[in-house]
Amino acid sequence: MSTFWSPIVSRLEPYVPGEQPKDGTFIKLNTNENPYGPSPIALGAIRAATQDSLRLYPDPAMLRLRSAIADTFGLTLDHVFAGNGSDEILAHAFHGFFTGRDPVAFPDITYSFYRTYCELYGVAYRTVPLDDDFRLDLQALPDGCGGIVLANPNAPTGIALDLDSIETVLTRHPDVVVLVDEAYVDFGADSAARLVADHPNLLVVQTFSKSRSLAGLRVGFAIGQPHLIEALVRIKDSFNSYPLDRLAQAGAEAAWTDTAWFDETRHMVMATRARMTDGMTDLGFRVLPSAANFVLASHASVPAAKLAADLRADGILVRHFAGGRIENWLRISVGTDEACDSLMRVLGRLVDRAAG
Ligand SMILES: *Cc1c(COP(=O)(O)O)cnc(C)c1O
Repeated sequence: MSTFWSPIVSRLEPYVPGEQPKDGTFIKLNTNENPYGPSPIALGAIRAATQDSLRLYPDPAMLRLRSAIADTFGLTLDHVFAGNGSDEILAHAFHGFFTGRDPVAFPDITYSFYRTYCELYGVAYRTVPLDDDFRLDLQALPDGCGGIVLANPNAPTGIALDLDSIETVLTRHPDVVVLVDEAYVDFGADSAARLVADHPNLLVVQTFSKSRSLAGLRVGFAIGQPHLIEALVRIKDSFNSYPLDRLAQAGAEAAWTDTAWFDETRHMVMATRARMTDGMTDLGFRVLPSAANFVLASHASVPAAKLAADLRADGILVRHFAGGRIENWLRISVGTDEACDSLMRVLGRLVDRAAG
């Protein structure tokens, strides 16, 4: 604490990202990065953009990238917003749609950044408890809330809602923005993007960080009707006109159009997820049904905190959220098949040892 800080800064509880170790010896299954590299075509586009024109500002409207995305969804350009990672877009959305309203609602177990944005922008919020199977009861979303935020698939449970459920939420709460965060949608859920045309209160947010292996490039986008997109543009242009640099715009556009690479790598992740789920179930874990590139799992007899520490000692990083309802669960990202084999070997040993 410093006397120079504003009251807002003193009150903040910043989001704590997963560990990014400096040495590359760990098997990193803690931050849901894609184990396969970005599209080679995207890397080529980034290299090609690395030239003298970097002295010039990038396109503030990000037209080429937004057009490519709009085309895929059969929408016009004014339905698409792009930002410096989807986290930035989520921040703009909380700022632009939820401040000064009734409390916004989201599940008690979800992406913890939502609470952080609420605190940053002074947005009141109410959490809706998931049931014992970590599922959302749509009836529990309060009438008269100031907005609804749903990660679909949810993080860190991996559980997906079907589009009928999303549509039910949209029609039951027509007066507030329903923000659907689809960071993991490409690993097995249905995108609500196709509902955008019929629902003026829907904003869908996606990212290039997970299914397109570009966490390091920082690109996300949102899809919604033009009145919602315009709000985001107004905030962006009051904050930073150039959220995506030239390399990011070129790389993301190329990655978007390389659908062959995208499909091949996400299907490999999904196949490994199935192997991981079976292997961990055999070892006595309860593994939630995941539509994402991670699983949330809990062992019947070995505490999650101990497993996380012992895995780390064996060179494998996983995510453990201390305190709260998922204290005894581990979120483990889906790596390569080789990483999955190492994980199974070490987990097998740790579980055996605990059984003594
Ligand atoms: C990873 C993640 C994001 C952030 O993605 P970036 O585009 O890298 O900022 C947003 N929401 C959820 C639920 C995530 O897991």
